[in-house]
Amino acid sequence: MTTLNSKVPQGPIKDKWTVYKENVDLVNPANKRNIDIIVVGTGLAGGSAAASLAELGYNVKAFAYQDSPRRAHSIAAQGGINAAKNYQNDGDSNYRLFYDTVKGGDYRSREANVFRLAEVSGAIIDQCVAQGVPFARDYGGLLDNRSFGGVLVSRTFYAKGQTGQQLLLGCYSAMNRQIARGKIEMFNRHEMLDVVKVDGKARGIIARDLITGEIERHSAHAVVIATGGYGNVYFLSTNAMGSNATAAWKIHKKGAFFANPCMTQIHPTCIPRSGDYQSKLTLMSESLRNDGRIWVPAKMEDAKAIQEGKLKPTAIAEEDRDYYLERRYPAYGNLVPRDVASRAAKERCDAGFGVNATGEAVYLDFASAINRYGSEQAKIKGIENASKEVVTELGEAVIEAKYGNLFQMYEKIVDDNPYKTPMMIYPATHYTMGGVWVDYNLMTTVDGLYCIGEANFSDHGANRLGASALMQGLADGYFVLPYTIGAYLADDIRTGKIPTDTKEFDEAEKEIKDKLEFFINNNGSHSVDYFHKKLGNIMWEKVGMARNEKHLKEAIKEIQEVREDFWKNVKVPGDLNEMNVELEKAGRVADFLELGELFAKDALNRNESCGGHFREEYVTEDGEALRDDENYAYVAAWEYTGKPSEAILHKEQLEFKDIELKTRSYK
Ligand SMILES: Cc1cc2nc3c(=O)[nH]c(=O)nc-3n(C[C@H](O)[C@H](O)[C@H](O)COP(=O)(O)OP(=O)(O)OC[C@H]3O[C@@H](n4cnc5c(N)ncnc54)[C@H](O)[C@@H]3O)c2cc1C
Repeated sequence: MTTLNSKVPQGPIKDKWTVYKENVDLVNPANKRNIDIIVVGTGLAGGSAAASLAELGYNVKAFAYQDSPRRAHSIAAQGGINAAKNYQNDGDSNYRLFYDTVKGGDYRSREANVFRLAEVSGAIIDQCVAQGVPFARDYGGLLDNRSFGGVLVSRTFYAKGQTGQQLLLGCYSAMNRQIARGKIEMFNRHEMLDVVKVDGKARGIIARDLITGEIERHSAHAVVIATGGYGNVYFLSTNAMGSNATAAWKIHKKGAFFANPCMTQIHPTCIPRSGDYQSKLTLMSESLRNDGRIWVPAKMEDAKAIQEGKLKPTAIAEEDRDYYLERRYPAYGNLVPRDVASRAAKERCDAGFGVNATGEAVYLDFASAINRYGSEQAKIKGIENASKEVVTELGEAVIEAKYGNLFQMYEKIVDDNPYKTPMMIYPATHYTMGGVWVDYNLMTTVDGLYCIGEANFSDHGANRLGASALMQGLADGYFVLPYTIGAYLADDIRTGKIPTDTKEFDEAEKEIKDKLEFFINNNGSHSVDYFHKKLGNIMWEKVGMARNEKHLKEAIKEIQEVREDFWKNVKVPGDLNEMNVELEKAGRVADFLELGELFAKDALNRNESCGGHFREEYVTEDGEALRDDENYAYVAAWEYTGKPSEAILHKEQLEFKDIELKTRSYK
């Protein structure tokens, strides 16, 4: 049986990574030319890894299901990327970033990994600036920062509301240099459908060419999975429509443990769902909470009148508004972490104070900020006794410069002007902290199989702080994996090319072809989406923002039933040897239907509330999450044994030597 070894180096936390780098085995440049690495996924994590590994001299084969790395889901990232540069001189440091991240994750992450993340964060910004990423700059031309939830400093670097897109362009240009040199062979429109193990080591993958339908074998000395998160298990989420868990789930079935699947982030500021035919939710970046104030009516009659469309929010007097985050969490106010803000919104809506027809929305209001900025601008411009109209105009211009594209997006979707009327927002599934278990080297429990970016479980514990996903993905790809993978590959310099005409590749390929043929020939009565929506509904209602034992047990049973129905009645039109989007979805939903069950099982196992995992049975007197450090200060790493219901739990006990384990408070 595989046992967990996190391989965290000995020594003081501040020295671990430095000493590791100084002592790690290196591969001589001439030998790197004889070593192949497969990188599956070319979002920010995989793209940065592919570019860096190729720059080092390895032969990289990179895979993505989109038509270009530029279309990875990372492009959607809006608000920014954290780094402990302390450019604002407001007291930031590596230790503080480390501390905020461990505390933000409700003390369920591995200290050594998080400290390393904080240590390399500054280098990411330097790297990206050198690539030409146009981070926002202040009046004097220096890099600007803003704040995100759960911190008391400004350490978030940003490019308007398009940070992910700009970072991805930088990363893609670094990849393109290597593609042009022939060091990266790029396989766009290819989907990895399984990993191939030889003598216990990951030695290749089976992929489908999504244009021709051809099944291909690819070999390498190591395989890196960078395929993003599994938030779409909920059907509706802020993730890209194609985001999926297939690669992560397939490697889980081949021996990679899956860690903390129940730790999922529900983001507080999303545009509320509008109806049953919706296929996607839209995020309004957390950066908006720098200036937006969140409120609901304080009086029930006002809430009812708003829900019935009889009252406008602008007609509600200041004293009749409940700025509930400022009221409950005076120290952090509107910038409490996401799990706290989401639960607080749900609490107000459940109590009947929601502000749209469904009662599932709260306001995000910019009126105070517009007034504040407008007055400041009037002073700067020397306008005496500026009228309210002038102040508003000047203030709106400042808000537009900071968040213009987000306001435009909101207006296009909701058909309401958020400069004049507060935005309506509600929590939605956004990010998955859980994922494939990895050790300090970012290696899974399968030799030679690595996992980076959102696909792995590391660093964020039970709740991710805003602007930390981009930091982690780029840390993994640019600065961590290029060191750690060498330690493994140093033993492979004499191995030579890995052949693909072996029984291991034959078997993996046959299994995939059989499954694809099954889908095409099944001729059932329901579309893939029919089953995906059913799964999503169970996940949201019973494994969503608040969970309890009864609902979790029901969810497990219901997911099993939907899965059984899926395999009997799914209908996939079209053919095998052509572009067939329904066929792609069928495979992904089949995997979600298994992952969803493990997710609920993990939530049922964790008899505590922590971060995004909120169990209604474990709550403090004032409604906050009640952790159980004595019994649950561990990473739950699940081993696949044939069915999700039979997965075996392995515990990685978490040690807190550099941060005191205490109740998280933002009051
Ligand atoms: C709307 C939105 C806004 C966000 N804003 C921020 C922000 O401001 N700051 C922040 O830090 N984080 C933000 N996040 C989170 C962050 O964007 C993601 O966590 C991060 O971009 C994930 O990067 P990744 O490289 O791990 O995966 P992704 O960008 O999801 O890339 C996955 C890659 O894997 C490929 N792939 C997947 N499956 C397969 C397969 N089977 N075969 C082949 N290829 C495959 C895809 O083609 C793609 O190339 C945001 C998330 C959302 C949803």
